[in-house]
Amino acid sequence: MSYRTVIGLEIHVELKTDSKMFCGCSTTFGSEPNSHCCPVCLGLPGSLPVVNRRALEKGIKAALALNCTVEKNSRFDRKNYFYPDLPKAYQISQYDVPLAHGGYMELGYDGGKKVSIQRCHLEEEAGKLIHAGNSIMEADYSLVDYNRAGIPLLEIVTSPDLQSPEEAHYFLNELRLLLLYNEVSDCRMEEGSLRCDANISLAAPGLDELGAKVEVKNLNSFKAVKAALEYEVGRQAQILSSGGKITQETRHWDGQQKITLFMRGKEDASDYRYFPEPDLPPLQLEDAWIEEIRNTMVETPEARKKRYRKQYGLDEGEVEILVNHPDLCIFFEQAAGKYTNYRKLYNWSAGEILRIAHEHHLSADRLEPYILVEILQILDRGDINRGVAKEVLEEALLDGKNPSRIVEEKNLEIIGNVDVLEELVKKVLQENPQACRDYMEGKKKALEFLVGQIMARTRGRADPSAVRKLIEEQAHRAYYP
Ligand SMILES: [Zn+2]
Repeated sequence: MSYRTVIGLEIHVELKTDSKMFCGCSTTFGSEPNSHCCPVCLGLPGSLPVVNRRALEKGIKAALALNCTVEKNSRFDRKNYFYPDLPKAYQISQYDVPLAHGGYMELGYDGGKKVSIQRCHLEEEAGKLIHAGNSIMEADYSLVDYNRAGIPLLEIVTSPDLQSPEEAHYFLNELRLLLLYNEVSDCRMEEGSLRCDANISLAAPGLDELGAKVEVKNLNSFKAVKAALEYEVGRQAQILSSGGKITQETRHWDGQQKITLFMRGKEDASDYRYFPEPDLPPLQLEDAWIEEIRNTMVETPEARKKRYRKQYGLDEGEVEILVNHPDLCIFFEQAAGKYTNYRKLYNWSAGEILRIAHEHHLSADRLEPYILVEILQILDRGDINRGVAKEVLEEALLDGKNPSRIVEEKNLEIIGNVDVLEELVKKVLQENPQACRDYMEGKKKALEFLVGQIMARTRGRADPSAVRKLIEEQAHRAYYP
């Protein structure tokens, strides 16, 4: 029996700001524990919060990018719960009047599917618990770092419109790109700046009524989201098909065992005793400011994909790779302004540029696009070969040197001079009589070996096709003198 799967996501995005949501403490990741704290984010008596205008701006921008209606008079509330990562024993959040609501995001090239966005609301991060022994289930003790407490968060809640784990995965990636291009968040799941909880329920075929909703937490990568949801589909289907009932509960994804585990039973908003935050006045947003923010929005990733296909003639897979790397898009577009063999430019960008950026932990937009353009031009003139081009590219990009100068100084130009190559070929054949015989007896490998010898002696500068031709001629002479 195949069940209909219904998935909704709750995504927490850390907004990219220099300071926290309600105080001036730094949001820098990876600092000494408890070094970015003050009376406000530690919840000391007598301290008062003040809203970070930049965080508000980024939240509004994300909401607009998600086609939401921004609420001009939204309000902050206290969400009360007791847990050691929460110094005030309440979290400042938004409850019944969120920042924005009623939006959607389109999936697919032609806007094939719309996923509804129920609401976007602002809140603050909790601190971070570090469990000795890695797992919360097995830890002897836990340490608390309040550097994260108070970092601005936007919670985005979708309707249960997603129909499979793959679709949830796809949606998350599109959302990540939308937020990245709009500079709302840096969306680093591994640093926790984008996190996701998933609600999943199954319905019997032909029935509108959904089964009980199970919430899955601790999804710390896109892969984990997909794997945990796939696991849940299997688990719930098995219970249902053996006549059992799904209970509404919260489950924890165990990434090592690759299973979900029971965490706690049903919980309701009433458990949190929400009430209006008395220390913050309601937000009052002006239309002019919202419009100003709207004007800073950039094209959506989907629109960008469409444009790249048309403007550069790239195919679907190529466009997908480019758009998945916003830093590479900046590099590519700049280079494309000066070099119009776009496919070749794409191949080098997605290959060598990404590799160099990755190996040296650099963002591709920090690399100089005109260096690649110049090298491709030298390559097109036939002055150097591909291997040399790659070497020169890396050196020029990392040291900021002029590629033509590197080629000149290191004497890297292709050796196309037949006389020079002929001498070398003769010498190599004399020194390798066995390989020469093998080649004449039809062993293909022997030819590759001999070409390799020449390339090694010229440090890769020989023109391989000329070398091949010369070996054929000279081997004949050596063999049949
Ligand atoms: Zn603070």
